[in-house]
Amino acid sequence: MERILVVEDNKALANLMTKKLKDSLHFEVDVAYKLSEAKLFLHKYQYFVTLLDINLPDAPNGEVVDYVLEKGQHAIVLSGNIDKEFRKKMLQKNIIDYVNKGGIDDINYIISTIERLYKNQKHKVLVVDDSMVFRKQMEGFLTNLFYKVYTVAHGEEALGMLQAHPEISLIITDYNMPVMNGLELVHEVRRDKTKNDLCIIAISGNNDEEVNALFLKYGANDYIKKPFSKEEFSCRVNNSVEALENIHIITNHANRDYLTGLYNRRYFYESMEAYMQECADSAEKFAVAIIDIDHFKKINDNFGHDVGDKIIIHLADILRSGTSHRDLVSRFGGEEFCVVLKNINRYSANDIFERIRQEVEESSLQTPDGEFVKFTVSIGATIHGEDTLHDTINTADMMLYKAKNSGRNQVVFE
Ligand code: GH3
Ligand code: MG
Ligand code: MG
Repeated sequence: MERILVVEDNKALANLMTKKLKDSLHFEVDVAYKLSEAKLFLHKYQYFVTLLDINLPDAPNGEVVDYVLEKGQHAIVLSGNIDKEFRKKMLQKNIIDYVNKGGIDDINYIISTIERLYKNQKHKVLVVDDSMVFRKQMEGFLTNLFYKVYTVAHGEEALGMLQAHPEISLIITDYNMPVMNGLELVHEVRRDKTKNDLCIIAISGNNDEEVNALFLKYGANDYIKKPFSKEEFSCRVNNSVEALENIHIITNHANRDYLTGLYNRRYFYESMEAYMQECADSAEKFAVAIIDIDHFKKINDNFGHDVGDKIIIHLADILRSGTSHRDLVSRFGGEEFCVVLKNINRYSANDIFERIRQEVEESSLQTPDGEFVKFTVSIGATIHGEDTLHDTINTADMMLYKAKNSGRNQVVFE
């Protein structure tokens, strides 16, 4: 588990912060009331981040900050000191943030900052700038914010890097660069990556008003004017990444079934449209199955709706683990599921559906009363040929009807 070190001589405040950190982030928290105690902890543990009061009984002028940074650990500085010069001096050090600790809002801000840092670890950022000095500076800022960073010197290199790492979340690009400038880069990237896929921040000279507007028109999410402060840079970068995360959360909600987390019918048809096109071009074959729980109404009647729900979730797990990553498993509604096995022949598909049927038959689920519930499924399946998707699904449905009429708990493959 990740650890946080709080160095704060005000015990009430230290306790409050510890409680908040433990409650909302589930980190282990160590508390030191002075520098000498902090040193002992820092000797023993590597911390996710340290929160440092700059006015301690044995270190009244921020000495703890230098000590922590020398140890290669991450620091957020807490201060009641609003002296501008002092603040500026602190921010020049390699700290993550300089935060007031006036009240509960400040503590909430600290918590949300740490949460942000934690999430940043899974984001990759591409820095595009022909100046090595700027590249290094931005790389330093971003690494300090826990991002994974790639750097390149111009637009064309950036496109290559993006192709090699399509999971990149954010591109930060300069304007004036050799080979391909920032505007051309944004234009190229936006040909196939929308704001739902990746965000772009442009860095521009102070008096390029027209260029700034063009950047936004071409699809940049934001721009930062040179020269910029570390604080402005950090906030804008974090804001863009957070917006992207929110888009992903919303999209995920729209595409998935709430109970099982499987894809819903809407997403099924949307994603199959693109896949059918691929298949038409490559002559790839796929199998479709409609899977329906047998006598599910009786399960609900005998054990209650909650147990019924658990059965549906249990079946979803079996379908997920019995198919490959590329396949499409969706809940069409109620106790009916549709599974597409991609790039497969009839023989292998039948094998997989039969194994799923068997696994369901052999498994059981324990109710809160300790009773074991068993259930079975009927599966209707077909291989997609020349038909439309609609016809293929209809065929699978007819096979399901046959399976039900021939005694259930079986696979009928057309
Ligand atoms: P068959 O073997 O012919 O498929 O019979 P069945 O009882 O499974 O089929 P039927 O269509 O008659 O009943 C399906 C039942 O599934 C009715 C409905 O109340 C229940 N159901 C639908 N959605 C949910 C759900 O999300 N949770 C639970 N617990 N039950 C659901
Ligand atoms: Mg103090
Ligand atoms: Mg049923």
